[in-house]
Order: sequence, then C-alpha cells, then structure tokens
Amino acid sequence: MRLGIKLSLASVIDRSGLVTALRRFRSTRSGIVLTFHRVLPQASIDTCYERQIAMTDTVFEQLLILLQREFRVVPLQQLVESQGSLDGLQRVALTFDDGWEDTYSLAYPLMLRYGVPATVFICPGLMGTNRLLPEERFVRIWRSCKSREQLHLLQNDLRKWTTCNSSSLEMHFWARRLKQLPMDAKHMMLAHLEDIYRVAGDGVRRFMTWDEARIMANNGMTFGSHTMNHSTLKVEQPEHIMEDLVSSRQMIARKLGREITQLAYPNGGYDHRVIELAAEAGYSYGLTTDNGYVTRYTRPLSIPRISMADAVVTDERTSLHFPRTRVYLQRFSDKSART
Ligand SMILES: [Zn+2]
Repeated sequence: MRLGIKLSLASVIDRSGLVTALRRFRSTRSGIVLTFHRVLPQASIDTCYERQIAMTDTVFEQLLILLQREFRVVPLQQLVESQGSLDGLQRVALTFDDGWEDTYSLAYPLMLRYGVPATVFICPGLMGTNRLLPEERFVRIWRSCKSREQLHLLQNDLRKWTTCNSSSLEMHFWARRLKQLPMDAKHMMLAHLEDIYRVAGDGVRRFMTWDEARIMANNGMTFGSHTMNHSTLKVEQPEHIMEDLVSSRQMIARKLGREITQLAYPNGGYDHRVIELAAEAGYSYGLTTDNGYVTRYTRPLSIPRISMADAVVTDERTSLHFPRTRVYLQRFSDKSART
C-alpha cells in the first residue's frame, strides 16, 4: 500500500477512537517491548547498512514524547514480572540491540532527558572496536561487487559457501542464508570474500566502549547479553552455545559490576534447545524478534517484541506520524528486523 494511503487510513482509525479503546482493553493484560537498533542524525542515516533498523534522532525524540504522554514506560523486568498498570495506561519497555556507539551518544542523552529507562543488549567481543557485525560485512561485500558489476561472480561463491543452488541476485536472500551459518564458517566465508573482492573495513568505531556502558549502567540503564560476537545461537553446537552464553554473561557482569539476567537472541535465532541452555547459563529473560505483546502467558525466555524504525512510524517528511505510530503499536507487525 502506498505510504500516503497508509497515513490517511491510520489518521482515520486514530480519530475514530478505536486505537484508544483497544489500548484500554489491552492495558490490563499486556505490555509492549520495543526493539531499537540504530539512532542516527538525518545527515548520516544512510550510513546504516540496513535502513530497516535505523531511526532518525529527531523521530526518536518525538517517539519518546508520545510514549511519555500516552503510555507508561517501565523497565523490562517490571513489565514482565507484573501484569497491567494501575493508571490504565498501557506499559511499554524499550530495548536496544547490538550496543551501537549511537545508542550511547544519541539515544541515551534523549532517554535521560525524558526519564525513560531501557535495556541494552551488547556483544562483549565487539565493544569499543572497529569491527563490524557479520551482517554488515556481508552488505559491504555485496554493494562493492554490485558497483563493480561482479554480482554473478559473488553469487557463484555464495552458492559454494552456503551449499545453496539458488540463482537469486537479491541481497536479502543471501543475507538470510548467511545468518544460518555457524559463526566459524561465517567468519571464514566473509574473510575469504573480503580478500578476493578487496573489501576493507573503514576504521570507524561502531560500538560503544565499556566506559560508556558503565556511565549508562550507573544512570538507570540495564544491560544484557547479545552473545559474545553476534552468533545465531540455534545453528551452533550445544557446547559452543553454552560457552558463549556463560562467558558473555560473566564478562558483562565483571565489566559493569552488576548481575546480568537478560539475553537477546541475535538474528532471532532461538529454539527449545537454546532456551534450555540459556536457563542453565543463568538467564531469566530471553528476548526474541517474534512480533507480539507480552501477556500473562508469555514465557520469560521467549519474550516477543515490536521492531521500531523510521520505516514504520514516519510520514513522507520523515518526522513521526503520530496516528500511524499509535496504530502500529496496537497491532502485530510482520516487518521485523532480525538483527
Ligand atoms: Zn543484533
């Protein structure tokens, strides 16, 4: 559906009072956990390797104003452990995945200003480094090959490395295949492709430092594990999963001086086996990329979330479209960004 039609429809639904009625009905039994990744200034929003996970800082601030005015923003643990809200406002908790530098430099000051808590899920192996997420490395290789008209060569390599015979020339298809590889195989493949197609890093630090994380932790922000290096847990061997879950939890606890009980599964990659191992490794809460609300039936180690980005809450001028955002928050979306 065209954006203009979507916005008009959202405005009509919002004015009709349906959204408010739905929110009141749901407020006694559910809460919403929102997922954010990157918050960037308008001028550098296109530096994000995946536009579907980026939100402009001005839009993020407008969203905080909306949440403060019409919702009850609470820490994740509080949202999961108790039901409903005494004042009838629907409860919402904020989560940030990956530990991007901009979560500290742009999102955090705004959250402080509006008194909004959040949980930040970090990868200890990436903190403070110039390293890239495997997913971003792949996008850079793809774009470089595309600009040099080498996509067919790259496709041949990808077919070999992923043992997939597809003739797709669609980047997201192969990005999804990449996410299904164990970390060792993924690293080997990416290093090989970067070498033969001569794709180098840009030396820009993307992830927050431990000092920055400590400042946030000392000012009301909660931290959780996103695995050591952003592994898709469900495709790893059980001993690797266990080692990663325990060592990442211990390292964050040691660096930040507090107990770590929350985990977000990278790429939404979890199953029953991962849940069992997470419980054994000492986690009480596991955050997924499944879309949905928290209800009394939600299991603490498979908590659904709703993905937030400019693409789902803005209008044509890229400012927050309040009716569209209200409508979006009241329904399940099928547009999750699995990172
Ligand atoms: Zn992630």
